[in-house]
Amino acid sequence: MENSKLSVDELAMFCKRKGFVYPSAEIYGGFAGFWDFGHLGVEVKNNLKREWWTFHVQKRDDIVGIDGAIITNPKVWEASGHVANFSDIIVICKKCKKANKIDKHEIGKVKCPCGGEYDFEKAREFQSMFKTNVGIDGFAYLRPETAQLIFTNFKFVQENARMKLPFGIAQIGKAFRNEIAPRDFLFRMREFEQMEIEYFVNPKDKCPYKIGDSEIFVYSAEMQEKNKKMEKMKFIDAYKKGIIKTDWHAYWLEQEFLWFVGLGANKEKFRIRQHMKDEKSHYAYDTWDLEYEFPFGWKELQGMANRTDYDLKQHEKNSGVSMAIVINEKGEKLIPHVVCEPSQGVERAFLVFMFDAYEYDKKRENVVLHLHPKLACYKAAVLPIVRVDKDIVKLAKEIYEDLKNEYNVLYDESGSIGKRYARNDEIGTPYCIAVDEQSLKDKSITVRDRDTTKQIRVKISDLKEVLKKLLNREIEFEKAGKVVETRVK
Ligand code: ATP
Repeated sequence: MENSKLSVDELAMFCKRKGFVYPSAEIYGGFAGFWDFGHLGVEVKNNLKREWWTFHVQKRDDIVGIDGAIITNPKVWEASGHVANFSDIIVICKKCKKANKIDKHEIGKVKCPCGGEYDFEKAREFQSMFKTNVGIDGFAYLRPETAQLIFTNFKFVQENARMKLPFGIAQIGKAFRNEIAPRDFLFRMREFEQMEIEYFVNPKDKCPYKIGDSEIFVYSAEMQEKNKKMEKMKFIDAYKKGIIKTDWHAYWLEQEFLWFVGLGANKEKFRIRQHMKDEKSHYAYDTWDLEYEFPFGWKELQGMANRTDYDLKQHEKNSGVSMAIVINEKGEKLIPHVVCEPSQGVERAFLVFMFDAYEYDKKRENVVLHLHPKLACYKAAVLPIVRVDKDIVKLAKEIYEDLKNEYNVLYDESGSIGKRYARNDEIGTPYCIAVDEQSLKDKSITVRDRDTTKQIRVKISDLKEVLKKLLNREIEFEKAGKVVETRVK
């Protein structure tokens, strides 16, 4: 799509203008790092989360879900190491005077985005967890990640769901971080959502799933150290060459990439980047990030650490509750290893899909949002060609009421048909259904394809079936009905 010139600020303005995302409490001047989703944004975000859940939980036999509390016992965050270590380094730029966050390993090495030097002598640590009151004199933290609730519930879930290794536990939910410099619209927020999986294995067992041969840019720690360029290669080859250390890690990195691509993201904009030695968390055996090329550079979409048995052991030590599970009929026990934890920000995924979908169409003179039908807010819009003809309006409303039982559809009768097509292009509605004079005669309607503006005529009695096939991408548009030429594209 022709979106390369779209900046993140322009995308934010577009999202506000159309009703996807607003600065939180904008009538009071907004609140840095907090954003509200509007009537279109919430639908896309819910679709995105549903697609993630379907792909990772519903369609698999080895992953089940939970929904843990946002506020939990503060001991959890002591055990996990967040109280001691979950801090950022604040540095002030000598030129623009703005505060920024950097990682510990970047001290003395990086510059401010404005080009100015940081005053590293005054660098200080800053605890990133939000604290809140509980009861009269208690306190707690707002969770900075969803993962720890998976570890604390690990034993219950494993027993209740009768899971056997290898298996995963997934969760989607809010996380909060007191970011020093929230920026780039939804990229760095103080309140956001995560979609996370902790995948538990016996470290002796090989990955039973196939690592496919899809290709991606690979940027290993060695390539970074030696100032080499990233290389495009197959996931399976990156594993065979020993660049990705474990089969499990290669498998999960590919799955996450395929999830994005399957929902219409541009595969050329993804890469996997290995953490350098000084960047890796102390407990991690190997960490890779799935990154995307945003207009503000290559940035992390997902962090995927091999966390070994660190977290479960920490919780065992601090709670006194054994985290070992029986792994065979002999009754041998083991604390499983987390071989990979695909951990994804919902809003960062939202940004990817919006950037890749956005196109300003010069011919149409309007934006076309090429969202995958599964992500689009409305699956179709029902439009009576004129609103003065009561019979056409009545039929259009009947079709709308019927479709509404199955899909989120829109009824729109205001303005010219051209304007209504444009309005739906802009919000990403994949199909517009127009009801005209001919509809009254032969009980047929036209269906317009957002991406090509082509139109087909379909019998009303076939509409639901045709729409289902089109939305699931099971049929080519031009084969789904009789192609018609119309004046208004
Ligand atoms: P970053 O280096 O960008 O701060 P991180 O390495 O701290 O990210 P993780 O702790 O690995 O992030 O969190 C997992 C995922 O949660 C990230 O890959 C990202 O998609 C999302 N995420 C983390 N922090 C934020 C944030 N402040 N705003 C939006 N999404 C976030």
